[in-house]
Amino acid sequence: MKVPITPLEHLVGLSRPGVDLWVKRDDLTSPLYGGNKVRKLAHLLADAKARGARRLVTLGAVGSHHVLATTVFGKQAGFDVAAVLVPQPRTTHVVDNVRADIAQGLDVRAASAWALVPFLVLFVLKAFARDTLFITVGGSNVEGSLGYVDAARELAAQVRAGEMPEPDVIVVACGSGGTVAGLAAGLALEGMASRILAVSVSTPPRVVSFLTRRLTRKVLRRLGESRHIASALARIEFEHRYLGEGYGYPTLEGAEALALAAANGLKLDPTYTAKTFAAALARVRAYADAGEKRTVLYLNTLSSAPLAPLLTSAPNEGDIPLSVRALFR
Ligand SMILES: *Cc1c(COP(=O)(O)O)cnc(C)c1O
Repeated sequence: MKVPITPLEHLVGLSRPGVDLWVKRDDLTSPLYGGNKVRKLAHLLADAKARGARRLVTLGAVGSHHVLATTVFGKQAGFDVAAVLVPQPRTTHVVDNVRADIAQGLDVRAASAWALVPFLVLFVLKAFARDTLFITVGGSNVEGSLGYVDAARELAAQVRAGEMPEPDVIVVACGSGGTVAGLAAGLALEGMASRILAVSVSTPPRVVSFLTRRLTRKVLRRLGESRHIASALARIEFEHRYLGEGYGYPTLEGAEALALAAANGLKLDPTYTAKTFAAALARVRAYADAGEKRTVLYLNTLSSAPLAPLLTSAPNEGDIPLSVRALFR
């Protein structure tokens, strides 16, 4: 699985005098299904093959992009794919994602509560079987996070080539933390000065930041680059104020940011990117109000590939198994 270099674009309409807002279009990581999970899967699937696995078992919220991406690319690479799904607030985006999962042949197991997840993963789905590889939530283990070391290296090369100025801050959603961890590690390895504003979209915030920092250390240790740990960690700033009621609950600021982005040609979702983009816009405003000259880069982690081709044989919402529909909260 080869991930194409994703473009950088200057969002002229949302920049301010002296403060430039750019976007790295990781929504375009694949024409089939884009977003940040594709870079992770490039490593996760290669690892699964190397281990001789034939089956992948993972987990996520009912509308999980990670589960859908694992289904699409795992199936394409010849793996059987199964997932345990947990509740999430119902939005049409969430419903369509699980419809696409089912249409792509995912073996779906509904867990009405997080407490049931280990039982379903270990016993029902036999994640301990020799031919089965378990992939953790969000694909955020060390292997998956290496996809964002790649992204940081790619960005560094684009900056060196003069495609954009070196960003002062990169604004990115932080859920299971693999994206931020890989990015922080990669930026440190490249000797970049860019900081990261990690916008929490998941709870509890303290756990999100703890796990993300731990993963950053593990990634650099895996690469034999422990001396870059301090530089990687020092550049991550966690922003917990855009979460609202919690994972998957839309917020007012998010809805406003989503509308502004749409007017500027960028499609966002309520769970991750709307909240993150709201934080990016606030940062741009704050720098402009303070008269500081800055370059802000928003990393767009959401797929912009049309979902329709993945929905051609999908069930209507009413035909989704009842146990799965019960996960829409
Ligand atoms: C999974 C996801 C994220 C969060 O990435 P993590 O590596 O889990 O922190 C952000 N944005 C979108 C659209 C996602 O699907």
